[in-house]
Amino acid sequence: AKKAGGNRVEPFRPAFRTSGGTDRLQIETDLRRAIERKELTLAYQPIIHLSDGEIAGFEALMRWEHPKRGTIPPSEFIPIAEMSDMIGPLGLLAVERATSDLMGWEQQTGELPIFVSVNLSSAQLLSSDLYNEIRSLLGRAHCDPRRLKLELTESVMMENPEQARLVLSRLHETGISLALDDFGTGYSSLGHLTHFPFDTIKIDKSLVTHNSEKRAVVLRSVVAMARALDMTVVAEGIESDEDAAELAKMGCDFGQSFLFGAPMPADAVQRLLKERFPLTRRA
Ligand code: C2E
Ligand code: MG
Ligand code: MG
Ligand code: MG
Repeated sequence: AKKAGGNRVEPFRPAFRTSGGTDRLQIETDLRRAIERKELTLAYQPIIHLSDGEIAGFEALMRWEHPKRGTIPPSEFIPIAEMSDMIGPLGLLAVERATSDLMGWEQQTGELPIFVSVNLSSAQLLSSDLYNEIRSLLGRAHCDPRRLKLELTESVMMENPEQARLVLSRLHETGISLALDDFGTGYSSLGHLTHFPFDTIKIDKSLVTHNSEKRAVVLRSVVAMARALDMTVVAEGIESDEDAAELAKMGCDFGQSFLFGAPMPADAVQRLLKERFPLTRRA
């Protein structure tokens, strides 16, 4: 479990929507059972090239179909998993499913020019085994490390920067792509861009859905900075075609939002890929 002590700063934990402590305990128990029973699934949201609308990849987003409570969003169960010992297995489950789903899609279409992106939690980064575990999952799925992107938020880096840098560097050296997620929220993260081996910035939707000239300037500067650092830029939560065109003009590579597609189950991805990449079939 976690190595960090009791006095950690925890600025990014989302507030619980559930009310009392008993509720949290109940959810924790249920979550443990759900992992065993495989009630957790992945929904995949397309990430598209802003230049031509073509699919660049998919972000894997965890979903929990609770037998009694219905769908529980990750903003509720991820923090609970993080505070218990469940985030490790849960995160690895996501890597395992996402990479094997990607390989499965390719069996139907032939080789595809796409990646899968998986979110990692800070607690996972502090596990000394993470590197080996991810390597072995990639090996088992016969998935090229360059097809996998890992998304991390700043809280990951704050908790134990040296350990984080070590693990991230090793992962990056094997060819895995690393994205700084939710950029533009919380603490200023400019230092993180150079201190850690990120190759991708995901600009948070709160910055993307700009409604003032000032924010447009900030957005433009962030995209320019990322490009100057040779990083790929993804804009989250783009709300209109006009904004998409403007971001493309600024030099933003990718977009991910409901405008281009909501998170969908793996079999819907399969159908979409067959439609979008009809000519990649080799066998
Ligand atoms: P995130 O990594 O920033 O993922 C993007 C979130 O924005 C997703 O919410 C997605 O459904 C939502 N989104 C996408 N397009 C739009 C849009 O156009 N407008 C708006 N308003 N929202 C949009 P979701 O699936 O509820 O996930 C929330 C967060 O939960 C994720 O934020 C991520 O931090 C965390 N999460 C999800 N799956 C996992 C996982 O497997 N492991 C870990 N550690 N965290 C996860
Ligand atoms: Mg993400
Ligand atoms: Mg994000
Ligand atoms: Mg987010």
